[in-house]
Amino acid sequence: MMIKSNQKTVKEKINLQGVGLHNGIEVNLTIKPSKPNTGIIFKRIDINSNNIIHANFKNVVEPVLCTQLKNENGVTVSTVEHLMAAFYGEGIDNALVEVDASEIPIMDGSALDFVDAIRSAGVEEQNEPRKFIKVLKKIEVKDGKKFISIEPLNQDLIIDFEIIFNNPLIRTRRKEFKFSNDDLTEIYNSRTFCLYEDIDNIKRMGLAKGGSLDNAVVVQGSKILNEDGLRNRHEFVYHKILDCLGDIMLSGNRIFGHIKTSQGGHALTNKLLMKFFSDKSNWGLENLENIEKQNENSYKNPVAISA
Ligand SMILES: [Zn+2]
Repeated sequence: MMIKSNQKTVKEKINLQGVGLHNGIEVNLTIKPSKPNTGIIFKRIDINSNNIIHANFKNVVEPVLCTQLKNENGVTVSTVEHLMAAFYGEGIDNALVEVDASEIPIMDGSALDFVDAIRSAGVEEQNEPRKFIKVLKKIEVKDGKKFISIEPLNQDLIIDFEIIFNNPLIRTRRKEFKFSNDDLTEIYNSRTFCLYEDIDNIKRMGLAKGGSLDNAVVVQGSKILNEDGLRNRHEFVYHKILDCLGDIMLSGNRIFGHIKTSQGGHALTNKLLMKFFSDKSNWGLENLENIEKQNENSYKNPVAISA
């Protein structure tokens, strides 16, 4: 049986308001339906020209604490990762995202509001097949003890994520997320987090001007400063998986592959995508029908095993 997988967009226009985590500015966000094969496109409507920014890993600039995209004219949009993760999980391939400031609103620090908005607007199936990226070779990027790798996997995405924090509450944790099996609710709900002692430094860098306990989990020693604590047991590592999902959506397609990372983050994920796509022998881009046909053929012609 052939599984049909067509491209999707949002059924209706979506409006959201919020504050930018890093610039602290109030922003209006509108997500509009768009045509097949156009992908996710950001449009800065506070700027009159050269205001289109494609959601592509090649447009990522020095990712510090968030993923920022920049077009060839230097126009940027920041903190796209949670919205991109919502698009990945909800199956949105094509959308025009209009913003009237340089940052996507942080909402509650998770992807929850984006997902709810997409679900209430509805998803429209389009008359064009969706293409998937097939991993053909293992690729790895290392940075000291940190690493991220991707290797071939048949028709699924696995993200195996380990975090190592020198903090008695966050500590070392590792979770494996499998796209086909797992309910995404806890991934979507998991919020951005930071250590209390890092806040001064982050603010000195001019970041997190809009940060508060309403949009981030703040950990001081073994205490969580947010009144209601964590939303789930694995919120820290699940948020990192959410970020990773959003960042790989910048490849422009969903990926069939197995990602493993220890202490990964926006910069490392971007380096992996750069390396992976730089060599055409690492990957293939195909619709699901072709991938299934190839798999059927490999079952029809099994390697003979002699007993
Ligand atoms: Zn994040």
